[in-house]
Amino acid sequence: MKKRTDFLPYSTQQISDEDIKTVIETLKSPYLTTGPKVSEFEKVVADYVGATYAVAFSNGTAALHAACYAAGITQGDEVITTPITFAASANCVRYMGGEVIFADIDEETYNLDPKEVEKKITSKTKAIIPVDFTGQPVDIDAFMEIGKKHNIVIIEDGAHSLGASYKKRKVGATADMTMFSFHPVKPITTGEGGMIVTNNRTYYEKLCLFRGHGITQTAYAKEQGDWYYEMTDLGYNYRMTDIQAALGISQMNRLDEFIEKRQELANLYTEKINQLPTLKAPNQLADTKSGWHLYSVQLDEVALGKTRKEVFEDLRNANIGVHVHYIPVYWHPYYQELGYKKGICPKAEQWYERALTLPLHPQMNEADVDFVLSYFK
Ligand SMILES: *Cc1c(COP(=O)(O)O)cnc(C)c1O
Repeated sequence: MKKRTDFLPYSTQQISDEDIKTVIETLKSPYLTTGPKVSEFEKVVADYVGATYAVAFSNGTAALHAACYAAGITQGDEVITTPITFAASANCVRYMGGEVIFADIDEETYNLDPKEVEKKITSKTKAIIPVDFTGQPVDIDAFMEIGKKHNIVIIEDGAHSLGASYKKRKVGATADMTMFSFHPVKPITTGEGGMIVTNNRTYYEKLCLFRGHGITQTAYAKEQGDWYYEMTDLGYNYRMTDIQAALGISQMNRLDEFIEKRQELANLYTEKINQLPTLKAPNQLADTKSGWHLYSVQLDEVALGKTRKEVFEDLRNANIGVHVHYIPVYWHPYYQELGYKKGICPKAEQWYERALTLPLHPQMNEADVDFVLSYFK
């Protein structure tokens, strides 16, 4: 295969002159952190997704940690999630001393299957963390139903799905709490950054407490004087800076444009892949609109006459930034040492063996798609 002159990454940020101008204005302002931009960014995202509250964090993993704190997860609690995700979706449970239970995926969407989740529910189940893998929303109504029935908190990992929608509702409008990540490869970026959106006042207050050292203004503190504050629980410094928030506000102006472009490219990939015997395009449910963070295909190694490893290496050698998302989380040595056995989610593991992520981001065009697919002809 011919080598591209420039490297085509699987995803990348898109920074405009307007983004740069906005950040510079904040750099010249009195507030680099704990200023007006953070709450402005929170309001922009909350309004966009249709949630009441939003709390910004230093990164998406910190946001997930805070959500697990707000949900009250503690030692002895079980939390169910998917193995096909970035490790942070499971690690956040471990930070709180909880036990991670992995349930299998749906073969159509590769998302956590509500029916598989129901099989894993016990009296110890405290929360479920469904992940909108590749940007395709999970069946959130089904998860909310399970949550209501068993008194379980639903924390949606929307790291891939800011701007995606489910039955005409934006991701973030429905779950008890939803996390967004603003890492450079994600739908919009703040460099590093994350957010939880929620409609629940109690969760909102706990999230704020956890982000800021566990410090709050109590009635007792007010009596003591203006300088007085109290630390009521062990929190962290998980704050986002105003510099990051300023970038986030500016990026939000182009989120719909980014998603439209991703959708267009994904449609091109799918149309063309449907003509190829070597690849299977990802399925989309009729009542969801994906954010298309990733374009993940299933390889037919027999039809290709090559192993995934060979395909991966050939494409990387041609300067095409293919990737594999994700290695089943419990395969990692940390989880293996905790006693998780290979084979607990057979559908996920089978899917993983054939998975390959093709480059997809708003700066690509049809020629890039054709170049990537020429290998598979
Ligand atoms: C990126 C990502 C996270 C973590 O977000 P960070 O901002 O990188 O900490 C969590 N879950 C999923 C599915 C992700 O892709």
